[in-house]
Amino acid sequence: MIQVVEPATAEVMAELPRAGVEETDAAVARAKAAFPAWRAVSPGDRAGRLRDLADALDSRREDLARTEARNAGKPIGDARAEMEMVVDTFRYYAGAPERLLGDTIPVAGGVDMTFREPLGVVGLIVPWNFPLVIASWKLAPALAAGNTVVLKPAELTPLTAVEFEKIAVAAGIPDGAVNVVPGPGSVCGQRLVEHPDVAKVAFTGSTEVGRRIAESAAGTIKRVTLELGGKSANVVFADADLEEAAAAAPLAVFGNAGQDCCARSRILVERSALDRFMERLEETVEGLKVGDPLDESSEMGPLISEDQRSTVSAYVDGEAPVAIRGSAPEGPGFWFPPTVLCPVGNDDRAAREEIFGPVAVVIPFRDEEEALRLANDTIYGLSGSIWTRDGAKAMRAARAMETGVISINSNTSVRVTTPFGGFKQSGVGRELGPHALDHYTEVKNVFVAT
Ligand code: NDP
Repeated sequence: MIQVVEPATAEVMAELPRAGVEETDAAVARAKAAFPAWRAVSPGDRAGRLRDLADALDSRREDLARTEARNAGKPIGDARAEMEMVVDTFRYYAGAPERLLGDTIPVAGGVDMTFREPLGVVGLIVPWNFPLVIASWKLAPALAAGNTVVLKPAELTPLTAVEFEKIAVAAGIPDGAVNVVPGPGSVCGQRLVEHPDVAKVAFTGSTEVGRRIAESAAGTIKRVTLELGGKSANVVFADADLEEAAAAAPLAVFGNAGQDCCARSRILVERSALDRFMERLEETVEGLKVGDPLDESSEMGPLISEDQRSTVSAYVDGEAPVAIRGSAPEGPGFWFPPTVLCPVGNDDRAAREEIFGPVAVVIPFRDEEEALRLANDTIYGLSGSIWTRDGAKAMRAARAMETGVISINSNTSVRVTTPFGGFKQSGVGRELGPHALDHYTEVKNVFVAT
């Protein structure tokens, strides 16, 4: 059995059967059997069923949010926002079946046209930090394009995924089109990656596991999309609205207790503005409310597990230049206070590795050239921000930064309607927006001699 632990109390909140290779194979077989009928559902009907699923999820938003808040240790307000995004994601991709357009291409001797065909059975492997919302970014476009799916949630947070399967079936998605296998990544995840009947794997998680998945997928030339780690830069120029930049910086890294691949965990600040920025940052960090995820006023919860807490603690040893430390509850649960290290060099371990906890580093820079060099000096390239009142500088920097998602005078990363994904070792492919559908379809070219 999987014992599902509530990170705020360290107590078991549920138990469920652990899937293994046999269950994964059975799920793939069900998905394979369901594929011909699901792809044959007319576009309008498939769209209607996805809209019905969105409505069913909408009616369950509050209880799904409460389960996610408890299981992932995230503030209830954040969990509600995630469930709203789950619903919006299904509504958005419900528009896709009737809009999967092809091209006609001028050729000699006939007519040439393209079709966007579904791939077949798609394996979805998701992490514990945003369990159902990240799953929805994969489920919705995969199903809209006519694929059937096997979803492997993280063992730490399987509850909303298991609930999702029931909601989908009740809403009219045919039996076998959606299958959930809660089990270990090294067993069920690995099996999905190697299974000859799985056409594609869409994965979100660590760069290390992503690399292993890419290697294993080569065996069957499986399509793979990977959304991996990050070490995103939040670049604050001296001519920015410093008040606003400093007020926004803490939640851009401490949101979800820093367990966010988009966390702006390297805060690059122009040296001439460093003191003013740090003063304001201190006020905001010390004012952050860290506490019970179900308390409406909490802004940050605990870490996901004791293992995660010990990994994060290793970056804040006796030598670390702790400049600001917020508060965290005492007692049971995997709590860690929001912490800012300053000054930090871009070559220091805390600036190079994805900590995945509430630890930010502040790195001073001299000028625009140095800011961009430091921002790009990382193996990652997922997200980032630029704060300045100089519009031309903002656009120069946005084009120069080697990252998939960038915000100017904002720290937002993800919208249902816009593409999300990484440069460099932050991943391959894009989720969300119109681009995600390219990764769940194959282009077929048909020529008719006339
Ligand atoms: P993992 O990459 O190990 O886990 C992500 C998912 O992949 C989980 O469902 C996991 O299953 C599964 N998985 C693990 N091993 C394999 C495998 N060999 N084949 C197929 N699937 C597999 O991340 P962790 O949960 O261990 O977190 C470790 C670090 O990864 C974090 O500290 C953070 O740095 C980074 N991370 C980044 C995320 C992001 O959003 N980019 C998300 C999560 C983590 P299971 O856990 O059930 O065994």
